[in-house]
Amino acid sequence: MTEDLTRQNELLEELHRLVDRPMRLMVACGTQNKAILKYGIRELLPEKLDLVAGPGCSVCVMPAGHIDAFVKVGMQPGVITAACEDLLRVPGSNDSLGSILEKGARVEIISNPMDAFDIAKREPDYIVVYPAVGFEATAPSVAETILEAARLGMDNFCVIPSIRLLPPTIDLLMLDPDLNIRGLLCSDHINTISDTEAYTELAKKHQLSCYIAGFEVIDILEGILSLVKQIRNDKTEFDDTSAFIYSSDDKKKARRMVSEVFFAVDTDWRGLGTIERSGFVIRDELALYDATKRFNVRFKEGEESCMCQCNAIISGRGVPPDCPAFGMVCSPQTPIGPCMISDEGICHSYFKYNLHESRQHSD
Ligand code: SF4
Repeated sequence: MTEDLTRQNELLEELHRLVDRPMRLMVACGTQNKAILKYGIRELLPEKLDLVAGPGCSVCVMPAGHIDAFVKVGMQPGVITAACEDLLRVPGSNDSLGSILEKGARVEIISNPMDAFDIAKREPDYIVVYPAVGFEATAPSVAETILEAARLGMDNFCVIPSIRLLPPTIDLLMLDPDLNIRGLLCSDHINTISDTEAYTELAKKHQLSCYIAGFEVIDILEGILSLVKQIRNDKTEFDDTSAFIYSSDDKKKARRMVSEVFFAVDTDWRGLGTIERSGFVIRDELALYDATKRFNVRFKEGEESCMCQCNAIISGRGVPPDCPAFGMVCSPQTPIGPCMISDEGICHSYFKYNLHESRQHSD
């Protein structure tokens, strides 16, 4: 503990010594943003170092049109929807998975796709549908579950594919010169299967310094320090020295399973529109396990609250207190947008750890 504190102070001292000009970094991952707010890291950093949030909270980027599809399938007779808890509260155009549960639909809370698979085994008279949300790191476990269902010949388990790929979205955001992001802090869990090449390419294309960090305070500070050093040295590269992503057999197996089950397509992101090749769909050979094909459901454009400014917040163009609803009509108890619903949403973290600041802003 004391060692950690000593290391933390050393890192902070070095940062204060090195940050001699304005630098803006994007922290893509919701878990890292939560840690930054929880441990007050932002307040300890040099004034000229600006951290902005990115689109790395999977529930926050879920568009209403996808929730509408989950709702439509979930309302079918004989269906059990098995979904993570946060997803139940994300609003679609009219309903959410939580509201259809109250109306009598069968919706079960689970934490991973294998739980959904187990329900399917226990409930052979129902079709169990798993809305697969998350970033690329979640894809191997979903792919593995689908392949296992196919191997066993199970026909009462299927998935609504709604997985998102981060690199194409970061690519799009970096095209905005007003954002002026010089460094990108990524987390190892969103990059587990992302191609190193994709981040190397992003670094080259946008003169961006990239670094993969863990979730502890020390990991995050080391990542920030690495980015600051790269920026000072005019280095624009993908620093993977800390990465845990390299080609163990497990990682190769994960990539193989993902390509066996999915391929990349254009997909919608809440507030960010349709982004090229930023989502996965299930290959035709496994159509039985694709709930959108089984129930003939398409992802359509949904209606989202016009008050909510999640789009600006997840793209580094604003902070939660900029939203007039923040802490006033929008709170974790009465959330309006997904950034306040998810435990890893930036509005939720701001509210939970920075309430005093929200009041100052809203006064
Ligand atoms: S405070 Fe609420 S309404 Fe405002 S951006 Fe965040 S989630 Fe949306």
